[in-house]
Amino acid sequence: MISIAIDGPAGAGKSTISRIVAGQLGFIYVDTGALYRAIGVYALNCGVNPKDTDAVASLLKNIEIKLKFVDHEQRVILNGQDVSAHIRTAEASMAASDVSALPLVRTFLFELQQSMARGSNVVMDGRDIGTVVLPNAQIKIYLTASPEDRAQRRFSEMKQKGMEVTYEGVLKDLTERDYNDSNRAVAPLKPAQDSIIVDTTGNTLEQSVEALTALIREKLAKLGDA
Ligand code: C5P
Repeated sequence: MISIAIDGPAGAGKSTISRIVAGQLGFIYVDTGALYRAIGVYALNCGVNPKDTDAVASLLKNIEIKLKFVDHEQRVILNGQDVSAHIRTAEASMAASDVSALPLVRTFLFELQQSMARGSNVVMDGRDIGTVVLPNAQIKIYLTASPEDRAQRRFSEMKQKGMEVTYEGVLKDLTERDYNDSNRAVAPLKPAQDSIIVDTTGNTLEQSVEALTALIREKLAKLGDA
């Protein structure tokens, strides 16, 4: 099986680019952030503080999470319910970042993520895929861009979906989330030693997709020759 790990900070375009690249290669695209989001939203819905280790630990006892693919689109199924539509809000982003700092949540999701890569060729995106979840991934990419660029993209995306947001608010949330994700004790956001760092600052989406696709095809060709 071939695994392509794509890590990086929020709003770097990981999910859009990973989805397109996976489609082109015929691989499955696994969005691991959606798993943390589902647990974060579940905690909020239960009135539990997503930073409270003991309370979240109790919740995990009652949670069963599965990933399902419908027309190549990943759906997150939590206790039999498809929660994919409810996990894209700003509150969900922050709750995901909070629960993701808890080691027991990371352990809880570890096997599910690994099992996806055992059964299929995958493009998997997240924060610790190349460093922790799939350390043997054949291709590792760390996708980044300036905070202002990332906030601008996220802001435009959210506006298009009709969400009530400001650029300043999006930049603030994103900077806070990056700080949390990079400074937590377990599996912090950082490039794997053997990752290729790609900075998409100033690129259009098309330019980024083109650069990534070319890079991945070149790497895959080398793997084929090896
Ligand atoms: O990728 P996305 O923005 O959906 O991720 C939401 C949050 O989930 C991140 O800010 C991060 O805190 C957490 N996450 C993580 N490890 C991953 C994927 C996401 O800690 N592999």
